Amino acid sequence: MIPFTLLFLLFPMMTMNAAAPQTAFAVKELPYDYGSLAPNLSEETMRYHHDKHYAGYVARLNELLLDSPLSGLPLEDVILSADGALYNNAAQVWNHELFFEQLAPHPRRDPSAELLEAIDRDFGSLEAFQTQMNRAAAGLFGSGWVWLAADRDGHLSILSEPNAGNPIQRGLTPLLGIDVWEHAYYIDYRNRRADAVAALWNVIDWGEVSRRYALRR
Ligand code: MN
Repeated sequence: MIPFTLLFLLFPMMTMNAAAPQTAFAVKELPYDYGSLAPNLSEETMRYHHDKHYAGYVARLNELLLDSPLSGLPLEDVILSADGALYNNAAQVWNHELFFEQLAPHPRRDPSAELLEAIDRDFGSLEAFQTQMNRAAAGLFGSGWVWLAADRDGHLSILSEPNAGNPIQRGLTPLLGIDVWEHAYYIDYRNRRADAVAALWNVIDWGEVSRRYALRR
C-alpha cells in the first residue's frame, strides 16, 4: 500500500502528465538551414534565436497553460484572450513563427501586383515604405516589433509595438515583422540595430508576405 503522503506527492505529477499532450505547443523547425541566411544573419544568431529564445517562449507558454482555462485553445485565441505573462509568451511564439517563415535564403524580391498596388497607395512606393519601416525600427525604444499589417479591406499600416505586441489584438493581419529585440541582432551587429534591419531586407521573402496579404481577414 502507498503511504498517504507519497500519494499526495505523486498526484500532481500524474495530472500534469495527463494534461500535457492536449495543451503542448511544439517548436516549429526552421524551413531552411541555420547557416543559409548568412552573411545577413549568421548561423550562430539563427541557432540562438530559434533554439534558445523562440524554443524558450514555447516551453514557458506550455508551462503557463497547464494552469490556465485557455489551455487547449488555438494559439491565436490564446493571444486574443490572455494578458500578462501568458500573452507575452503566446505572442512571442506566434511572432517568431511569422518572423522565421518570412525569411528565405533565396527570397522573392518583389511583392505581388495586389500588394504592390496597396503599398504604392498607402506609402507612395516600396522604397518609401521601407524607409518608414527602418525609421520605426530605429525609433522603437527598448525591445519590441515593427509590423506591416493589413485591415480586412486591404489597407496597410506600420505599427511599432513594445515587447511582444502583436497586431492580431487590434484586429489586423500581420504581414511582415521586424524583431528589434537585441537577441535578434546583437551577436552579428552588436549595438548597430539599423545595420541589422538593413541586412534583414536582403532575406525577406516577398512571396510569403504577399501570401499573407492575400489571406488577410
Ligand atoms: Mn526574437
